[in-house]
Amino acid sequence: MTFDELNLLPEILEALKQKGYQHPTPVQEKTIPAVMQGRDVLSLAQTGTGKTAAFALPILHRLATSAPAKGVRVLVLAPTRELAIQIYDNFSAYGKSLPFRMALLYGGVGQQPQEQALRKHPAIVIATPGRLLDLQSQGHIRLDAVEILVLDECDRMLDMGFARDLNKIIALLPAKRQTMLFSATMPEDIRSIADKHMHDPVRIQILTDESKKPRIRQTVYWVNRDRRQALLFDVLDKQTADQALLFARTKRGADRLARVLSKEGHPAQSIHGDKSQSQRERALNDFKSGRLKILVATDLASRGIDVKELDLVINYDMPAEAETYVHRIGRTGRAGREGVSISFRGFDDGDVEKDLVKKYGAELAIIRQHEFLPDGVLVPPDPAVIEKHREAAKVARIKRKEAIAGGANPSGFRRR
Ligand code: AMP
Repeated sequence: MTFDELNLLPEILEALKQKGYQHPTPVQEKTIPAVMQGRDVLSLAQTGTGKTAAFALPILHRLATSAPAKGVRVLVLAPTRELAIQIYDNFSAYGKSLPFRMALLYGGVGQQPQEQALRKHPAIVIATPGRLLDLQSQGHIRLDAVEILVLDECDRMLDMGFARDLNKIIALLPAKRQTMLFSATMPEDIRSIADKHMHDPVRIQILTDESKKPRIRQTVYWVNRDRRQALLFDVLDKQTADQALLFARTKRGADRLARVLSKEGHPAQSIHGDKSQSQRERALNDFKSGRLKILVATDLASRGIDVKELDLVINYDMPAEAETYVHRIGRTGRAGREGVSISFRGFDDGDVEKDLVKKYGAELAIIRQHEFLPDGVLVPPDPAVIEKHREAAKVARIKRKEAIAGGANPSGFRRR
């Protein structure tokens, strides 16, 4: 199928041509016609499937082909600032020849520029739930003219505790509207949102075709904590990847790793919730543009990072859950390209490895014995070392509390 066959406006087709998209992805093939017909859509689709364009393209088409109207006509809700920015960028790119104003609203930054954007009467608003409600309650935005609502990465919004905010927002919208819900998983609470707030939705589930599944070569190294850094440098020296995304468990760990890497000739930056919004954006932009070779992220900060041509993901710390692992490595090997993931598994990480194979059928190349683990035996970290880390974490916690008491909001997330 081609995009022409989807009957999108020429302005939109032209923008797609400029982006170099030749064919719609499966989720786009199914979603675009349904949205153009005005149907509600409930879609089980993950990041990387092209889901953003799947809703952005037909929404722009509908706005441009329907009678002009005042007020905020489209509301897109996303769990994180990073994802909201990406959605905004997508709308801007696809709609660049269309006359719609847009506003991007998210927390952790000053409100004023967003108030200003709202005063210009945007037709399309892309927002994280908390900041949207703040602005709404202060009278900066009305939502009673919304014709189309998109809930993107709905499962993540619920994971992040936005359920109440979502309900509040939905209650402010006209009952007669078109609703689209995208989610990587479909737990009971999502189904109930769909039942309550959607009207006879078209259900779209993209069954992953094995042959089209992004191929990711997954290697797991067994390694003790004290040799992980040495192994990391060895791995980086041997890799041909242009860029790597590294995952660390803690913010402090991410900072430490970025520092050590930079010192050893691998320029790296970290991205996590204690960084200011502008620091996060700068790091992300540097990484996206290729200027920055290594980005060290925590899970929360990494959500929605969409970097083209990312060929290497390293789990410096194995995540506690297999699902998190799958999300993390899903950032490589996109759209048919082969990716590489390398994970360091320590003494306590065995369950994740087992779950990956059992639940996800992951094909892991497990390297149990190598230069940095010559005897192939994993041992628990030295209790003295654990104690040292615990002490350091305690100090960091106290400092953080003091900072918060002093008025700072280090996590950048809205406090209730
Ligand atoms: P998403 O799932 O929306 O995060 O999109 C994943 C990536 O695929 C983004 O980098 C998009 O720019 C890209 N993309 C979306 N649709 C297409 C398409 N039809 N052809 C090629 N790339 C696409």
